[in-house]
Parts: sequence; structure tokens; C-alpha cells
Amino acid sequence: MQQYLDFWREHNGYASLSISVARGCPYGCNWCQDSVHGQRFRQRSPQNVVAEVKTLMETYQIDRLRVVDDVDGIDLEWFEAWAEAAEEQAATLPFEALYQVERQDVPMMDIRDSL
Ligand code: SF4
Repeated sequence: MQQYLDFWREHNGYASLSISVARGCPYGCNWCQDSVHGQRFRQRSPQNVVAEVKTLMETYQIDRLRVVDDVDGIDLEWFEAWAEAAEEQAATLPFEALYQVERQDVPMMDIRDSL
């Protein structure tokens, strides 16, 4: 693992690990092969995600997260709860994720900025 993180830092200037917080996608875009985990969208609890992020931060001193779900950003309340729990546990990190662009709005961007 250390070699992997060192490679990230050497080539990107930061270390990132992957995490999955949700599975499935309900949208059915014409160009999509099909979401990896089917059409039924389901999410982990925000507290469970925060516990994993905290473990990754403490164990590997990572700088970022890559969220590897089919799609994220569907449930605004879930993201608010994630941001709140992350701030309480000092488990905030920059992250990248796949979003359905029509779901983007100012409240969601504000929440994402706090994570
Ligand atoms: S939002 Fe993404 S995963 Fe969902 S159907 Fe569209 S392209 Fe596929």
C-alpha cells in the first residue's frame, strides 16, 4: 500500500484512495451501457462512510478520495448528512465522483465544498 500511495504522491502531488458510498443508478441515459450495480439506487449511512474515511485518513494519511459509484449526488439530504457527520468527526477530504449533470445545483455545490 505504501508503494501505491508513494506513486500517487510522486506523480500527482497527492495520495488518493477509492471508496464506494452508493450502488446503482435510476436514470437510464441513452448512451449508458448500464450502471454497474443495476437500476436500484441505494446508499450506505453517512456515519458508516465517515467511519471508513476516518480509518483511511488515520491509517494511510491520504489527501483525497475517489468515489467509485455508478452515480452520486442524487440525494441532497444524504449529502448534507455526510457533510455534517464528516465535520463532526474531522473527516473531510476533497473528493471526485461521477454526477448526473442535470442534478447539479447551488445547494449541492455548497455541500460538496464543505466536504
Ligand atoms: S447517470 Fe451515469 S450511470 Fe446513470 S444511466 Fe446515466 S450514464 Fe449511466
